[in-house]
Amino acid sequence: GSSVETLEFQAETRQLLRLVIHSIYSNKDIFLRELISNASDALDKLRLESLTDPDLAGTDPAALGIWLETDEDARTLTVRDNGIGMTRDELVEVIGTIAKSGTAGLLEKIKESKDASGTEGLIGQFGVGFYSAFMVADRVTLLTRRAGTDSGTRWESDGESTYEIQSVDGLPVGTSVTLHLKPADGEDGLADYLSEPKIRQVVKQYSDFIRWPIMLTARRTDAEDGTAAAPDTINSMKALWARPRNEVTEDEYHEFYRQISHDWLPPAETIHMRAEGTFEYEALLFIPSQAPFDLFSRETRPGVQLYVKRVFIMDDCEALMPDYLRFVKGVVDAHDLSLNVSREILQHDRQIRGVRRRLVKKVLGALKDMRSKDAERYATVWAQFGRALKEGLVEDTDNTEALLELVSVASTHDPQGTTTLREYVERMKDGQDAVYYLTGETRATVENSPHMEAFAAKGYEVLILTDPVDEVWVERVPGYDGHRFQSVAKGLVDLDGPGEGDPEAEAERARRDQDFAALLSWLTTTLSEQVKQVRLSSRLTTSAACVVGDAHDVTPTLEKMYRAMGQ
Ligand code: ADP
Ligand code: MG
Repeated sequence: GSSVETLEFQAETRQLLRLVIHSIYSNKDIFLRELISNASDALDKLRLESLTDPDLAGTDPAALGIWLETDEDARTLTVRDNGIGMTRDELVEVIGTIAKSGTAGLLEKIKESKDASGTEGLIGQFGVGFYSAFMVADRVTLLTRRAGTDSGTRWESDGESTYEIQSVDGLPVGTSVTLHLKPADGEDGLADYLSEPKIRQVVKQYSDFIRWPIMLTARRTDAEDGTAAAPDTINSMKALWARPRNEVTEDEYHEFYRQISHDWLPPAETIHMRAEGTFEYEALLFIPSQAPFDLFSRETRPGVQLYVKRVFIMDDCEALMPDYLRFVKGVVDAHDLSLNVSREILQHDRQIRGVRRRLVKKVLGALKDMRSKDAERYATVWAQFGRALKEGLVEDTDNTEALLELVSVASTHDPQGTTTLREYVERMKDGQDAVYYLTGETRATVENSPHMEAFAAKGYEVLILTDPVDEVWVERVPGYDGHRFQSVAKGLVDLDGPGEGDPEAEAERARRDQDFAALLSWLTTTLSEQVKQVRLSSRLTTSAACVVGDAHDVTPTLEKMYRAMGQ
């Protein structure tokens, strides 16, 4: 070994540690799930690297696993794996600091959030994982050696403000995390994590489907020769998605979802399907009930994992889900792909494209069903993901119709609620051929816009669109149910009908134009810098004047958006 170095946790890490230890998780059992999930990830990484790295080619997948060891005398619980391990630098980077983007923002949100369950949700999205060990331990010792390297590292901390780090020789490849357990205490609910039944229960509950064997060894003081019994595999390792739907309980689905999403809340929808035929696969997809805080940040990755015949291949498989459905989490297990398939190959694989098309239809179909069967739940899902789904109206022209059925927007029909396009069309007036809308920054600005007056007077319903993306999709989609989308702020609006061809109305209009000709031409000249033309209008009832865009002009909000994007 070498000399011990003492390093400080980053300020944000300290804050997070304090939160984890003192308040946020009411359920301490989950520390074990977090450590097991890290071990499982490390085993996946090793197996995957061994396929491409000749130095690791000797890795025998059958020898990989996770060991839980208790020691009553020392009061320790150790979670050990022979996975990829970490170099010293990796260890300092991933455990000493919080390198992930968005952390500062997350901490802000946590501080603002008064309600503890909200905090759990936020933390869940972020996954404090490793730090949760400090909920049950007052000291944690980690030994690790990266596969393919010679020297190992020892890390130890009490989770307060510093940690010790030291190089050590002779470690096996992989990682072991030893928890020096706090005293079990019935009163504050800290369970006895040295107890074998307790460990079995927690593993069964949270980690049963982990695809590596989890083995438990208890070193008992009363053992005759002081040695431990042979380890016993305590998880079933059954891939949840491979089991028939009617044999999986709701709780199992939720736990699996939690495992892959790091989300605290149960999903809003679970989709479990199996495709048979020339290209066989199973898919288990979840629609979360809450959007991650970074859903609209550039770095957000899609949430579907790819497996091939039960073997984990990759996270964030963009080939399986379009960008606008990046909030969908889950697993696809394809049977007829090669284990070392690459992202590039997947992008161009005809069969994968077929899978993706089918999954998209499934997700949109599930949302549609939810809307008709459980409108309340649908409303909350739309509130979280509607903006992303509306991106689909721009990106995914194959599914325009299905997406339009999901749209739920504010309208003048109901000052509080929203409407679907179907409901809008059902309420359309005789002779109305377009779906009218007006975009703006807020509902109030749209409602008070002078453009609305004539429509209100006529009793025409107008959709109130306040998302920037609304301006884009209403321009892109050809229409809904045979009715085009028409902005009430653009072009000539003639609500007076019968208008053209009606001699009386024509004469009346001509007479008024005559009366105001001098004023109109004076206004047009005076305002020539600001407007193209000044004309009489039938669209106003109480306001004296309003500014109207040309039928093909970009709207002010869109203009702002383009400018912000530097176009
Ligand atoms: P997450 O798992 O969400 O990344 P964690 O706090 O659980 O967050 O773990 C942080 C990082 O520490 C992991 O991403 C991984 O790089 C590393 N790590 C933790 N445990 C292990 C382990 N048993 N083997 C290898 N690396 C690990
Ligand atoms: Mg983790």
